[in-house]
Amino acid sequence: MKELSDELAEKILNDVLEERCASEEGVRRYRPLLEERARRIVARLVVEPSADSGPNTDFPHRLHALFNLADTVVKDELGSHRYPKPACPDDGGCAMCCTHMRIVLSVQEAAVIARELLGLSASEKAEIAHRLPSLGQSGPGSRCGLLDEQGLCTLYAARPINCRTYRSCSITACEDRVRLGRNAGEEVVFTYPFDDLVRKSFHHVVQPGETPHFLEMNTFLASVLHDDEALAAWASGQISTKGNE
Ligand code: SF4
Ligand code: SF4
Repeated sequence: MKELSDELAEKILNDVLEERCASEEGVRRYRPLLEERARRIVARLVVEPSADSGPNTDFPHRLHALFNLADTVVKDELGSHRYPKPACPDDGGCAMCCTHMRIVLSVQEAAVIARELLGLSASEKAEIAHRLPSLGQSGPGSRCGLLDEQGLCTLYAARPINCRTYRSCSITACEDRVRLGRNAGEEVVFTYPFDDLVRKSFHHVVQPGETPHFLEMNTFLASVLHDDEALAAWASGQISTKGNE
């Protein structure tokens, strides 16, 4: 079995701290939590991918296998009783983060979404297109086009890693965040220390050593739902990274 290098575990840990903690106080409170779990979480994603997520497996299949692994890691972490219970209802009864956060996904995740969209009927695709905010209105505060009228994700099995990992232990904090906007210091208190470790490890496995290129979900959906050729190109893996951040 491959070994997880200290250097890689440390790099992922430091990347998370840098992005997540705006203040010294945040780093002070957050680092011990992350350090305790970092090696184990990163190792599970980076070193132990299952046989059906290996390099010879076709790409969408490999990404789905990694999604499943990430789901298992999140479930195991939450089940370890190290953390407060999540406020997110088990039955999906809260979709506030699908309606108020900037939803981003990597180009590889976008290719998987494109394949799923190809499998939808014309009327199902038209419904998603109809939900998209008008041009220039995407981003924080806009509702994800994949969220249906019942508050469920249309492509739940293919949802990006950000959606799979985000949990909060305080619905009040989520409501405050929606009301007041992002505050990196608060995240230390109400989100979990493992989510960014899982995300960064996931992106590392998908593209080792590369900085992922991210797209905004609604902008991506608008670009493929109104253009059959673009949708087919994304779905077939001819990934475009131009002008869609
Ligand atoms: S993270 Fe917050 S907003 Fe999102 S589902 Fe959980 S409680 Fe609701
Ligand atoms: S992709 Fe699905 S889970 Fe993610 S924000 Fe959109 S509706 Fe919510």
